[in-house]
Amino acid sequence: MAKNNSIKKGVEKIIIANWKMQLDLKDSLILAKKMKSKFAKFKKGKVVICPDLVSLRDVGAILKGSNVKLGAQNVFWEEKGPYTGEISPRTLKDIGCEYVIIGHSERRKNVAENYEMIYKKTKAVLNTDGLTPIVCIGENWDERKTDRRDFVLAEQLQQALGGLEIFDNQRIIVAYEPIWAIGSGTAMEPQEADYAHKIIKLTLNNMFGMQILNKNFKVIYGGSVSSKNVKDFNSENIDGLLVGGASLNAEEFYKVADIITSK
Ligand code: PEP
Repeated sequence: MAKNNSIKKGVEKIIIANWKMQLDLKDSLILAKKMKSKFAKFKKGKVVICPDLVSLRDVGAILKGSNVKLGAQNVFWEEKGPYTGEISPRTLKDIGCEYVIIGHSERRKNVAENYEMIYKKTKAVLNTDGLTPIVCIGENWDERKTDRRDFVLAEQLQQALGGLEIFDNQRIIVAYEPIWAIGSGTAMEPQEADYAHKIIKLTLNNMFGMQILNKNFKVIYGGSVSSKNVKDFNSENIDGLLVGGASLNAEEFYKVADIITSK
């Protein structure tokens, strides 16, 4: 039987809202209701919202049965035990989460999350049925300026995912987020983003093989995407977006999702 040796193009896109710590509980619920109604007929791609931890359960209740799925911004790697302040993958799943962001650069910077922790979290999430990790990678400005981007991305993928066994029913989203672009108002040049996605996919191909890459992985872009620049990221190598600032307004986020999923 002929083996498929090319990277799959044109997969269903996923658009993920990262609300970070930008909203209080009341505003999170108001925005969740707006998102639910705005996306009620949206069928062109998958949409996920990641509110803060305290809002998760109530936002989940609002989104239940809708087109918009629930994601968390963090998780711990153990199932249970003396881990003050942490939340297990199973508890996230129990309250309706289907996705969880792991290793966002703001966590790497502010609470010293490292790739060993990211590996353990990813493994724990993969082993929780129905929960998909969104693993963040990306170079900083200095690494980019000194032409080390590709090496850094390969190294981060190796540290975060190297040695994981990926089963048929498991899915992983890799979010490529150049650190210098996040929240800066300046997105990466689309051609450069497209190229970086290819590098990531080729690295994943080396690590897991083409079949697993095509079936189990999506690679998405994050970093200052808005309705004004999103159409430039509508490339076949970019399987979706992780959106911060532009996800705090339902109309704006809808425009982003609508444009990135347009043929
Ligand atoms: C993010 O924090 O994941 C992000 C992409 O933020 P922004 O869109 O605001 O750059």
